[in-house]
Amino acid sequence: MPWSSFLTHCGVSLNRRFWLWVEEDGDCWVWTGDVTAGGYGTWDHDVVHRVAYREMVAEIPAGYEVDHLCRNTRCVKPDHLEAVPPRVNKNRIVNKGRPKGVRSGN
Ligand SMILES: [Zn+2]
Repeated sequence: MPWSSFLTHCGVSLNRRFWLWVEEDGDCWVWTGDVTAGGYGTWDHDVVHRVAYREMVAEIPAGYEVDHLCRNTRCVKPDHLEAVPPRVNKNRIVNKGRPKGVRSGN
């Protein structure tokens, strides 16, 4: 499903300026706006994948980080995001394997 259709489906307004900076790139929705030195998209004093997670999935539990299952730090697709305790996120970075939950190809 194209991201624009998905957002409409979820009741997210496409008029929000946030979404003007998102472009579909393969299986990812890539942020094309400002990016931090660490490679994360930024929006309104927050990183964009956290904004997207709160917008489309759920509130992020206190202390949790939002991990990219696709390893694309500028991706904001809810399917590719998962809220994890900080410790889990670090372990995943150390044990870099094939991210689970991400289908290969289209
Ligand atoms: Zn992605």
